[in-house]
Amino acid sequence: MPYSMMLDSGHGGSDPGAVYRGRREKDDTLRLTLAVGEILQENGIEVLYTRTTDVYLSPYERAVEANQAGVDFFLSIHRNSYPTDNEVMGVESLIYDLSGLKYQMAQEINEQLETVGFVDLGVKARPNLVVLKRTRMPAVLVEAGFINSDTDNELFDSNFQDIAQAIATGVLDTLENAGVLKEPETPVEQTKYRIQVGLFRNRNNAARQQEALEDRGFPAYIDQWKQYYRVISGEYDMLDEAVAAQRRLKRAGFETLLIQ
Ligand SMILES: [Zn+2]
Repeated sequence: MPYSMMLDSGHGGSDPGAVYRGRREKDDTLRLTLAVGEILQENGIEVLYTRTTDVYLSPYERAVEANQAGVDFFLSIHRNSYPTDNEVMGVESLIYDLSGLKYQMAQEINEQLETVGFVDLGVKARPNLVVLKRTRMPAVLVEAGFINSDTDNELFDSNFQDIAQAIATGVLDTLENAGVLKEPETPVEQTKYRIQVGLFRNRNNAARQQEALEDRGFPAYIDQWKQYYRVISGEYDMLDEAVAAQRRLKRAGFETLLIQ
């Protein structure tokens, strides 16, 4: 089973979140959450969303949604605001308490966001936030810059994709380091059919055979097998292709052996 995460885009619908000069937190969070989710999904995480459109959900409903889905992790994305405009800027992550995987992830996300240009305001414990308190899985709430900071907004708009990537990298690095993310399955090495045209103790003889094949227009290379040098003429994914090639070699007077 892939590692699963509920991505929660803050606010929505009748709740715009923080608003600054017509800019609404709920729009920024939705856009960023979807972008982060896309990257996580591409990296093998099973991604669920509390919302993918402009709808209202209470914080409690969000937690319940995650609990019912039984996801492994809950990541909420918000934008911050400060009573005075353009006074504070930077990223901040909130977690229930300063421990465990969520703490590692919150720190990692902040660090990644710092490389994009945000000031790192640190990780804070907020045990009373509903989405952190009511979720049964580890949860992180990222405040991706202040919506009433022109500096942060400028960064948010001009480096949007880098910001999404930074959050996703923070998530993925943390999960990989913790060993909870299974390595992506390496594609099974396909069995190749190879045609051996000679097995020699002496490398010179093998080289002579290789030349003879090449002179007749056949592919050929030498590889070492135990104490022998074997001359291989062609590798094929499909058995019938290998058999056809074998037939052509036989007609040209070569003795062949099909190996894998
Ligand atoms: Zn918010």
